[in-house]
Amino acid sequence: MFRVREIAPKRSKVSTKSRYQEYRNELRKDFNFSCGYCDDADEFQDKSTFHIDHFAPKSKFPALELDYENLVYSCRFCNVAKSNKWVMGDHLTSHDGERGFIDPCKEDYDEHIYRDIKGMILSKTTLGSYIIKELNLGLMRHEYLWKARKLRTQRLKLMELLDKVPKGSNSREELLEAIVKLMVEYEKYFAWACR
Ligand SMILES: [Zn+2]
Repeated sequence: MFRVREIAPKRSKVSTKSRYQEYRNELRKDFNFSCGYCDDADEFQDKSTFHIDHFAPKSKFPALELDYENLVYSCRFCNVAKSNKWVMGDHLTSHDGERGFIDPCKEDYDEHIYRDIKGMILSKTTLGSYIIKELNLGLMRHEYLWKARKLRTQRLKLMELLDKVPKGSNSREELLEAIVKLMVEYEKYFAWACR
């Protein structure tokens, strides 16, 4: 069982700006260049397609439009799915225990959903099931991009090892073979997720 996000996002202190779009650079960094909800990395796709989500929707809570604490760096799939959904009457309470959302920067985000060994996002609780359904976290692309990221990390580790193995040795050949295999597999998942 894995956490949905490899590194949990954390908002830093940012001074107020005049447009929420101006927070993009800080937000991107605070969210580890990945969607706060599904962890898809923006390096795998056109960064301009990543959105700035208002956790408590700005259509319902316009006073929070420029509040950095309410912003989430989000892939377009999660942001479009979430839209202006909000089940509670105020912005301070985000769920009733069974329905609603959890701020991706809150520790309890990982108490409701997880990833299985294949990278699929699954629920641990009723609230987790609601979140997966409403954010469409069951999309194959989230699973495949997670796999692509893992394969790339493995390949980089093997490439580091390769530098330490003497040229012409059998183990070097084996390592090279393993690296090529990982690259082919990576391309497969990456191409599928980005089509
Ligand atoms: Zn996402």
